[in-house]
Parts: sequence; C-alpha cells; structure tokens
Amino acid sequence: MQPWMSTPVPQLPGHGPPLRLYDTAAHRIRPTAPGPTARMYVCGITPYDATHLGHAATYLAFDLVHRYWRDAGHDVHYVQNVTDVDDPLLERAQRDQDDWVVLGMRETALFREDMESLRVLPPQDFVGAVEAIDEIVEVVSKLLAYGAAYRVEDPEHPDIYFDHQAAAHFGSESGYDEATMLRCAAERGGDPRRPGKRHPLDALMWRTAREGEPAWDSELGPGRPGWHVECCAIGLHRLGTGFDVQGGGSDLIFPHHEFSAAHAEALTGEYPMAEHYVHTGMIGYRGEKMSKSTGNLVFISRLRADQVDPMALRLALLSGHYRADRSWSSEMLDEAVLRLDRWRRAVARPAGVPVAETVHRLRAHLAEDLDTPGALAVLDAWAAETLTRGGRDVTAPGHVQAAVDALLGIAL
Ligand code: ZN
Repeated sequence: MQPWMSTPVPQLPGHGPPLRLYDTAAHRIRPTAPGPTARMYVCGITPYDATHLGHAATYLAFDLVHRYWRDAGHDVHYVQNVTDVDDPLLERAQRDQDDWVVLGMRETALFREDMESLRVLPPQDFVGAVEAIDEIVEVVSKLLAYGAAYRVEDPEHPDIYFDHQAAAHFGSESGYDEATMLRCAAERGGDPRRPGKRHPLDALMWRTAREGEPAWDSELGPGRPGWHVECCAIGLHRLGTGFDVQGGGSDLIFPHHEFSAAHAEALTGEYPMAEHYVHTGMIGYRGEKMSKSTGNLVFISRLRADQVDPMALRLALLSGHYRADRSWSSEMLDEAVLRLDRWRRAVARPAGVPVAETVHRLRAHLAEDLDTPGALAVLDAWAAETLTRGGRDVTAPGHVQAAVDALLGIAL
C-alpha cells in the first residue's frame, strides 16, 4: 500500500544517550541496541472505523522511537501492516450493507490523512494483509509441514490452527499464566471453545472459505488468513528475525504478539522474533477505556473537522507517559493549546536563553523510556525563561524549534 507523506526532519548537532525502552518480555527497561539500520514493526489498524485517540497515542509513541533513532544517526526500517481482511471489518461492512473492500479503502485513506496531519513519520513498508496473502500462505504451509500447525477435525470447515506447544518459548513474551492467557484469548478475538482444536489456546492461522465471506485460492484450499500469522509473515519477510522493536497497544500483548512470536520461532528456529516488545497504555474517556464496545470513541478526523490544531492534539497526547493507561479530557487539549502558544511565542523571539543544556536534557528524558512529561517540562522551562528574561542567544529560538520538530514531531 502507499504510505502517507513524510515531513522533513531537521538534523540536530550531536546525539543523545542510547534509547532505553520498557520490554514487556523482560519486565524492565533495557537499552535498545540497533545496528546501522534500526528495525521496527508496529501493528496497524483494522480499517473498519476511523482512527481514534487511542490509536493515535500508540502511533505517536512509536513515532518518538523512530525519531529518536534517526536523531541517533540510524536509518530506520519501519514496517506497519493494515489488517484489511478480518472479522471486525467484514462484520461492520455487513451491518452497514457496505462493500468490505471499499470500507477498508475509505478508512485506510482517512487513517493516512490523520497520521499525516499529526506529522507521524510514515513506515517504509505499509502492507495490507490482502497484498501479503502469498507470504502468509507460505508461512502456514511450512508450519503445517513442520507439524507446528494442524487442521481441526471438522469435515465442513477444516480450519488450520497453530499448535502453541510447537514453540519452546511460548509464553515468554506476555509472561502470562494459562488462566490469564485463556481469558485474554476469549476477550480478544480468540476461540478457546472451538471444537476440534488440540488445545483451547491454539490460534487460527487459516480460515477455510465460508458462504458470503471473501476467500483466496491457495495450496491450503480457499480461505483467508488469521491475524497473528499476518503480522508474523509481513514482519519476518521484511525485517528478518531479531528485529529491534515489535510494538502495539497493551491489548496486543496476548494473544496477538505472543502468537506472532511463536509462529516465527516455530518457522525459523530462531528466538526471539523481536529484541523488545513495547506496549502502549490505553486511552480512556468518561471513565472507560476508549473502545467500540463502549461507544466512547473520540476520532482524530472529528477533532480535525472541529478545527483542532493537530499540533495541540499531538502535544496533549504526549503530555502523559505512553505506557500509562490515561484518560482523555477536553481540559488536556485546552492545556496543550496554551502550552503550544507559549512555546510558539518563545521561539518567535529574536533571541532566547541558551539551549545546549535544554536539548541535552530533552534527549535524556526521551532516552529514558520516552519520558515525555519530563521532556515537555524541560521545554516549558526554556520557554518561560525566554519569555520572562528574554535572553541574548540569537540562535536559541531556531535550535529549540528544530529540536521540538526533530524529536517530538511538533511544528512550532
Ligand atoms: Zn500485529
């Protein structure tokens, strides 16, 4: 698929310390150690509805990773998928008597616009499940041949499942016990009660054709792919194993990321699929997690239509820590508007207070597990001092403007 347009990223003098991120699998903050090209895979949208603030917060967090690595001198190979065929998309299309292909295209186009307006740097590879069917079929076929996947005993619908015991490190990504895994699988699109499976946890890899559903002809028989194998195939095909970061919202910890990792291990014999598993917190609104089931979604496109400055929106979402579950409120946006105004007035001054220490501290906060509240406080201090004391450094406003753009993605 065509990704969205990029914005230029200013080059700053010097570098910060290596980026450290919380790794879900290790239960602690660890340094990332990318090679000349850092490799990152972030799970993309299922395009049945518009991008809401929860999605935006996730992609913004990984945009900061992307930007920090670039600032550190790395190239970044960033891959993101689009789950453009799956149950939620088909169900929504049926509910609205819409064509699922057109619905997916429409919402993907809107997602691109939302990301562009928020100045999220685009992935190098933006890949739809439909365009990766051949890659996915190859993975499933190999896992069947290796005995790591099997067909359920159902003559009408002999769907293919992954035997979770085929990966020696199964469970190491989430660290969940079996009861938690079963609960999460049931809540998040798994089917622990499906008859004919070897084990309730085993995950769908290939769903054989059903009346009224799209299906692709393949050596597996006509059908469509499961979700976890989609990300495994798309990620491995472009990044290989042992890539630097696998990312997504914390609701992807299990089963999604666990199974993508297990598929990769059973397929390649290599472990781990990703060096870091990085997860973002959930955004709540009016006391509940923002989700389609509670109906409390705040859409980026709606806010844009209401003339909200996307930079204020970006700043509001960055004002909380990416890993924290946090609530959205209109007060957050009001505060961000005021903050943005102070920063813009400060960089519009002909001179400011010196910035070397400011940029150093900005990088240091971001390097420590993307401490954006700390990073924003550093910039608040510079802006407040410049606005009250003035300062004599004529290069300072330009430097701050470039640093805020390069590291935080905010155009002042
Ligand atoms: Zn994924």
